[in-house]
Amino acid sequence: MSHNPPSIPHNSLKCEGCGAFVAFEAGTHQLKCPYCGNTQAIDANKDNSRTFKFEDYTATQKSVSRLMIDCHKCGSTVTLPDAVTSDNCPFCASPLVVNMGKHILTQQPDYVIPFVVNSDEAQKKFRHWASKIWFAPSDLIHRINQITTHQLQGVYIPYWCYNTHSASAYGGNRGDYYYVQETHTKVVNGETVTETRSVRHTRWTPVSGFVQLYFENLLVSASPSLPQKTSEILEPWDLTLLVGFDDRYVAGFRSETFRINAKEAFAIAQQRTENAIHNAVVDDIGGDEQDIDNIETKFHATEIRYLLLPVWLSSYQYNGKLYQLVINACTGEVTGGRPYSATKITLFVLFIIAILVVAFVLIQQNQQHASYGY
Ligand SMILES: [Zn+2]
Ligand SMILES: [Zn+2]
Repeated sequence: MSHNPPSIPHNSLKCEGCGAFVAFEAGTHQLKCPYCGNTQAIDANKDNSRTFKFEDYTATQKSVSRLMIDCHKCGSTVTLPDAVTSDNCPFCASPLVVNMGKHILTQQPDYVIPFVVNSDEAQKKFRHWASKIWFAPSDLIHRINQITTHQLQGVYIPYWCYNTHSASAYGGNRGDYYYVQETHTKVVNGETVTETRSVRHTRWTPVSGFVQLYFENLLVSASPSLPQKTSEILEPWDLTLLVGFDDRYVAGFRSETFRINAKEAFAIAQQRTENAIHNAVVDDIGGDEQDIDNIETKFHATEIRYLLLPVWLSSYQYNGKLYQLVINACTGEVTGGRPYSATKITLFVLFIIAILVVAFVLIQQNQQHASYGY
């Protein structure tokens, strides 16, 4: 199968009114000029039902040339908004040398969820989150409250999304309980007493079988820049908001390109099916206990889509350690690494000890009063 020629990035990213660079306006389907306020509608394809066969996927997808910058510290590869001339890496906060960007041929995403949460709302979400975290150093809370909307970085993160059928053959043993009346004799006060009680036993039978499941929208982050755990906390994503990829939704935002390819990510997706398959096997075996010897799973009719999903990021260093604050820019879900205040934790522990000591003394006094009254 032949490769499609690289497509030319959208040429309508300049304001029709004043010629300045325009940016996508979060929560809408339009571009807005930050200078004269002129707006232009984005007529994107809202049909997001099309999926692609996994087997011949990369061969059929379109390549695009993008100006991208590698971060030498954390290895992320991001595109920058048109007007940006100096920037910090959204993932590790180290300075990026913008004029060292280079054009890289990469695969065009199939779909995108355009930003819903804008930078003002993101700033409020971070502040609210900071006001609720326990044992945070006071200067950290102060610092989060000082984050300006300009310091928040809107980034589209690459994800692979799979639909797949699993077929699993298994072997093992099924355990069924049965009860036996057992009689015992024992000596109580010099007399022999006979007791009957019901004792549980398990009858094991060898079993084998076959279960089939269907998995829809298994999402795997294609970027190691956000730890897998962080990506999982950001879930769920409302995939009904996906629209056909269009460069204009990225105008004014950063986007990262995948660094985990479709094949590697499918191995991660398969791991995420293991629990469901295990539970299906347990159900299929039935009985009171199940002992599974082996499960052999094959996946077939796998479909794939390459997505860009929006997050707001604020990465910062604290005492030489890197922390990332992340918002799902679709649902507003906030997550993040944060330092703990040793002083606050120590004070809290001392406070608990003090309460315990007071409680202990009071109980002692009460008991003494009680014994005097005797
Ligand atoms: Zn304008
Ligand atoms: Zn970096």
